[in-house]
Amino acid sequence: METRVTFVDCPSCGLPAEVEHRYTLTSTDGPLEGAKIRCPDGHWFSGPLESLVPAERPGAAVERAQNEMHRSG
Ligand SMILES: [Zn+2]
Repeated sequence: METRVTFVDCPSCGLPAEVEHRYTLTSTDGPLEGAKIRCPDGHWFSGPLESLVPAERPGAAVERAQNEMHRSG
């Protein structure tokens, strides 16, 4: 199942960080999905997507970000 993530929680400040770029990492266990994210406060991170998104609720950050957008729009 493909993981679709547009926003994730910023690991530094918790704000919704936008996924700017996605790429494939190779590891001994097979391909891993990596991403570069940037938050509204200027932090950015790059690494395996699974390390940036809480494994138990991968859609939570996206839902919250979309709700924020609806309220402000
Ligand atoms: Zn941040």
